[in-house]
Amino acid sequence: MMIQTKQDILGVLNMPEETFWAEVAPAARKVTQEHFGDSLMVTAMLAYSNICKNQCLYCGMRAGNQIPRYRIPPAEILELSQRARADGLSRMFLIAGEDKNYGFDNLLTLVSGLKKQGFAVSLAAGELEKSQYQELHDTGVEEYVLKFEMSDPASFNRLNPSTDFHKRMERARWIKETGMKLGSGNIVDWPGQSQEELIQDILLMKELDISWAPNIPFLPAMGTPLAGEKRGDFLLNFKEIAILRLMMPHIKITAQQPGYDGKGGLSNTQGNLDAVACGANLLFCDLLPDAKANDFRPVDGRNVSGMKHCQDVADLTGLTLDL
Ligand code: SF4
Repeated sequence: MMIQTKQDILGVLNMPEETFWAEVAPAARKVTQEHFGDSLMVTAMLAYSNICKNQCLYCGMRAGNQIPRYRIPPAEILELSQRARADGLSRMFLIAGEDKNYGFDNLLTLVSGLKKQGFAVSLAAGELEKSQYQELHDTGVEEYVLKFEMSDPASFNRLNPSTDFHKRMERARWIKETGMKLGSGNIVDWPGQSQEELIQDILLMKELDISWAPNIPFLPAMGTPLAGEKRGDFLLNFKEIAILRLMMPHIKITAQQPGYDGKGGLSNTQGNLDAVACGANLLFCDLLPDAKANDFRPVDGRNVSGMKHCQDVADLTGLTLDL
């Protein structure tokens, strides 16, 4: 099954749910299997700071939100990662808010420590200067995750008032120019998103030649201006996953997705199984102690959870974990 054009995408987005699960999802799953075999990828995840200077309207960690804040020094992070390496994990996803006071040198120390431990490193630390992206690449970061969230410039600028769409796209270009791979994606069905905007989001992911689609549906976060909005359409999110898989067979797509009953955050087993069934292939193993993991909350009840959950999903799908 080929998905290339706007019309192809529209066809999937508008098709009945039964047709999607009977025809498109299995085709997308088959493509995943052809490219990744019978494995389900896992990346360790460490959120080293939940402090952010920005005010994205949808995010529970926006600067104005009253939540307990933390910042974990490199030495402490490297202790946690050392244990994960001993358990066999070889990929690390480092993530934080735009915490300018973490110290760029501390970030470089962290990356170089992880490289010494033998990790492949992906990093999401927001918008930086071009020279900083280059230094991160030169220190060993293979992949940088900078979501564009929404591809329509006016919508982006309204929902992300601390930056602008032009700046975000310029950074995406800089990241690629350093030689790092680019992880990027959207929020599916945020309040007011039109179908045309969703289609343009998908086409932008293709145009950016992303290595990882870290998309999730809109989930309201407590204390934000969008806290009272209803959650995004999960079926639309599963359809986007399948479309992305059929358009870009080689990319990673986040399987840690919420499920219809809304329980268990991003570790909803059925949500994860549904995501795998339509082409997603990446789970997270959160290394943070629970007390801090609960405070890393761009969305409420993120609940990424650890290795046992990854193993449970693998067992239920008959796949083998690729650590
Ligand atoms: S989405 Fe990222 S940049 Fe925006 S407020 Fe949240 S943590 Fe900060």
